Amino acid sequence: MFFPKRSNPNRKKTMLIKTLLNKVERYKSFVYGAICVMLVDGVEALVIDIEPRRNSRPLCPECGKRRNVYDRQPRRLFEYLPVWTYKCYYRYAPRRVDCPTCGVKVEALPWGYGKERMTFSYQVFLARWAKRLSWKETADIFETSWDTVFRAVQFVVDYGLAHRSLDGVTEIGVDEIKVFKGHKYLTMVYQLNAGVRRLLWCGPERKTKTLLRFFHEFGKERSAKIKFVCSDMWAPYLKVIAKKAPQALNILDRFHIMRAFSEAIDQIRRDEVKQFKANGQENVLERGRWLLLKRPENLSEKQTARLDELLKLNLASIKGYLLREDFQRFWDYQRSDFAEKFLDNWVTRALQTDLEPMKKVARMLRSHKPLILNWFKAKGQLSSGAVEGMNLKAKLTMRKAFGFRTLKCLQIALYHELGKLPEPDYLHRFC
Ligand SMILES: [Zn+2]
Repeated sequence: MFFPKRSNPNRKKTMLIKTLLNKVERYKSFVYGAICVMLVDGVEALVIDIEPRRNSRPLCPECGKRRNVYDRQPRRLFEYLPVWTYKCYYRYAPRRVDCPTCGVKVEALPWGYGKERMTFSYQVFLARWAKRLSWKETADIFETSWDTVFRAVQFVVDYGLAHRSLDGVTEIGVDEIKVFKGHKYLTMVYQLNAGVRRLLWCGPERKTKTLLRFFHEFGKERSAKIKFVCSDMWAPYLKVIAKKAPQALNILDRFHIMRAFSEAIDQIRRDEVKQFKANGQENVLERGRWLLLKRPENLSEKQTARLDELLKLNLASIKGYLLREDFQRFWDYQRSDFAEKFLDNWVTRALQTDLEPMKKVARMLRSHKPLILNWFKAKGQLSSGAVEGMNLKAKLTMRKAFGFRTLKCLQIALYHELGKLPEPDYLHRFC
């Protein structure tokens, strides 16, 4: 009787996996070898052996030249993307090159770098998910640690910062955000050009030297091409902008100025509540904070009714609120000379009140008048909400990313979310 010879089914499976792997990730000088399921850190995982192609010579990591083999190191694992919930690893024994110029070095590999256990592909994969989910959720879903996700994002950010283009930056915004508790700040520099709004730089604190560092890293030539800078009234910023980008029109924009108003109203309200308490009066402003900070058009019907009630009382908070609402008209002027008249007039009225925080705003506006009026010079050329939009996104990132205990982590998360950074484009897009 004749029996057809059966092929080895295991070999067939291996071949199929290899075919798929070669479709998504093919290396010129390496081939996929045996594939097995084995325990890695106590968990069953798919392990794929990799071997150098016959006669291929290893690459020196420093000069990038092909050199002779010096020796081989023990096999080690490189984590790849999980398959059907199995963790998946490459297994490879790295060669050491004998480089006449650089000495004996561990060869450069196309799928991973240095002592890092994750492959490039897996790092990009995790980092992509970490943009959609929180880092914690990403770690949970892929059964890995928060620290691993952090390293993956860091890799992608480092790559992106090294490979991004900084050409064509003509509009920037400088802003500070409060981070952690206490008075800790990050200085944020955004590109505001239409279509390319992104975080260019962020650094700890908001001192003169902070922003100087940005300009230093950004470079003289590029700084000379900046046309508009939106910033707030923070003196160190203004000083550095005037020095490092003297050709640029520095605009104190609406968002930053109105933020100063909100802070003043908040201060007045807090002082007043304290006064109520001291006098044993009823706190009519309880829960009134948001009413006062919101624009009237954003209030609900119930809130409007409540605000009407408050307006009947002769409260400092209300006076501050009305002064702010009145100032909003400033932004509607078409001509800067009319706007200037309005501003002078408003400042005079504010200074006649007994609202110290509002008087402070008035004095600030008066001393920065030319920069504020620059708003009208740039009108139509600059989007007013750009800095505000970026600022909101930054705050969202911070909220979503709880668990960032260090400033360094936070910076990486911000670059990751807001930097519009390029990713290694030679890798297969898995997600
Ligand atoms: Zn070399």
